[in-house]
Amino acid sequence: MANAEIGVIGGSGFYSFLDDVTEVQVDTPYGAPSDSVFVGEVAGRRVAFLPRHGRGHHLPPHRINYRANLWALRSLGVRQVLGPCAVGGLRPEFGPGTLLVPDQMVDRTRTRQQTFFDGLPLPDGTVPNVVHVSLADPYCPTGRSIALKAARGRDWTPVDGGTLVVVEGPRFSTRAESLWHQAQGWSVVGMTGHPEAALARELELCYTSLTLVTDLDAGAETGEGVSHDEVLQVFAANVDRLRGVLFDAVAGLPETGERDCLCVGALGGMEPGIPLP
Ligand SMILES: [Zn+2]
Repeated sequence: MANAEIGVIGGSGFYSFLDDVTEVQVDTPYGAPSDSVFVGEVAGRRVAFLPRHGRGHHLPPHRINYRANLWALRSLGVRQVLGPCAVGGLRPEFGPGTLLVPDQMVDRTRTRQQTFFDGLPLPDGTVPNVVHVSLADPYCPTGRSIALKAARGRDWTPVDGGTLVVVEGPRFSTRAESLWHQAQGWSVVGMTGHPEAALARELELCYTSLTLVTDLDAGAETGEGVSHDEVLQVFAANVDRLRGVLFDAVAGLPETGERDCLCVGALGGMEPGIPLP
């Protein structure tokens, strides 16, 4: 089976033009991931691309099998993950085209499986132990600094830090919800950032979120509110340069064996009870 060391969870715009991509179907104890995994090479590094919403974007955020996605990447050898996603800006200065690399996250989702350690047996009968990982700092500090450097190298001044609030969706926020999010001091709002980071931490994967602002959220603008078409247009206009940033970040990430961040020892020696792939 093809192997990879770095994973990118994002749209097809990030790998579809690569010359030599191998499509790999991966099954997991949690079911099928969003789609096949596409393995290719970027800057001499083996990279696994996984379309978060599936090819053709058929999966809404609340129906993505996040556990299968992270498990599948790890089973291919991935230990560092870059997670680009589209978000709404919660402050006027974070307008469309802003690249923000968050350092904090707030979970306002409702229905998602957010742990591998839920006490239920896997299909093979093994039962995970009860394990509590720290998510105080949800994102890999090394990955963040490399992503920020990659953006600056492409003349795209990023916002360094901020809080991503993740809502259940698929609807956008009401004005009242959006104003409340702003009043908390949060920076951007999205629908897919959780539970990706939490699950990555449980598998001792480095996870870095790169958020691209596609619109100002309902409380931060004065017009009709967000439309899906606007989001897609802004994303399309920025996908080339975001791809450049991701590829430079891939090139800058440490080798798997040289990671020295908090993610590596996330389980702190706790026995997970299930064999990690
Ligand atoms: Zn890390």
